[in-house]
Amino acid sequence: MITDRRRRERRSSVLAGLAIVAAVISLTAACTAVSAQKEPAPTKTQSVSPRTQPVSAGRLPTGSAPTHQGPPNAEDGVLPDHTSAYDTSLPGIAKLDPALLKAVQEAETAMKADGIRMQVTTGWRSKKYQEELLEKAIRKYGSRKKALEYVAEPDQSHHITGHAVDIGPTDADYWLDRNGNRFGLCRTYTNEIWHFELVTQPGGTCPPMTDPTK
Ligand SMILES: [Zn+2]
Repeated sequence: MITDRRRRERRSSVLAGLAIVAAVISLTAACTAVSAQKEPAPTKTQSVSPRTQPVSAGRLPTGSAPTHQGPPNAEDGVLPDHTSAYDTSLPGIAKLDPALLKAVQEAETAMKADGIRMQVTTGWRSKKYQEELLEKAIRKYGSRKKALEYVAEPDQSHHITGHAVDIGPTDADYWLDRNGNRFGLCRTYTNEIWHFELVTQPGGTCPPMTDPTK
């Protein structure tokens, strides 16, 4: 009997020991998980180089946007004159939503067959580029409110996400306004004949346009 009890006691103390070890392991694991979650924050701060901080003073760091100084360039989506939707070596074209890009390329080909040569004046834009356009528009129209009728806030522009294109010249705009729905492309703003988005099915009906002045 005595031996039996001792054996039982020994077994229960072994089990208690195992329970403590298990608790320590899970506690360590929990701490590791918490510290792993917290780690990205300091990395983000470090990625802003001190050299670029004075320039972007008053603005938040622009995530994955290029951090170069000076005016926006090709890396920000600035396109040269006569850019075709097939010029996929340019970031402004390459970073478009693939479905939108395909539709615009098809429209360009169909337009060409009708004797009209279109160009993409803007496709994808970086946040930096959008910010500069808005600042220019504020200078031009004299107020932020008026400027916002023509240029969206960086956080709201569909160009930033690659879901909008601006097309020129005007005969190409008129052609696309009439025929864009064949490719799913529609004008989305009453005051911008050049701005198109993929907002219907090929052959579908375009939704009513937004009036940014209202
Ligand atoms: Zn646009």
